[in-house]
Amino acid sequence: MSRRHHPRKVVAPPAFKGYRPYGTSVDSQGEVELLYEEYEAIKLADYDGMLHREACMLMGISRPTFARIYESARRKIAHALVEVKTIKSVYGNASFDKNWFSCKSCHALFTMPRQIDDKTCPMCHTEEIIFINEPK
Ligand SMILES: [Zn+2]
Repeated sequence: MSRRHHPRKVVAPPAFKGYRPYGTSVDSQGEVELLYEEYEAIKLADYDGMLHREACMLMGISRPTFARIYESARRKIAHALVEVKTIKSVYGNASFDKNWFSCKSCHALFTMPRQIDDKTCPMCHTEEIIFINEPK
């Protein structure tokens, strides 16, 4: 039973389900679970070059909480690299402003109003789409 935290605002879910090592003589030694909010923290701080005090406001959390999530993300990624682990992206405590869907067939990531009746993938038009705004 995991404790529910205050939701962390995430703009968009990661556009991948995971990363797998290749070109190694060692078989992948298990996996690390990177939470959506950890991905977001890395993206904001290291990719967008945002200051922590700006990034925490965007995610609707305190600066110490942001720092903890960011540290956790970096530790997990470092472990994955050094210990040849697969990185798997998982939901965590994310909250989104938009309704996000992913396509089972072409893996496209897109938003649309949830109340639309005809829900198909805008890329390949399959009906095999998954609503991803909630933990699996
Ligand atoms: Zn599709």
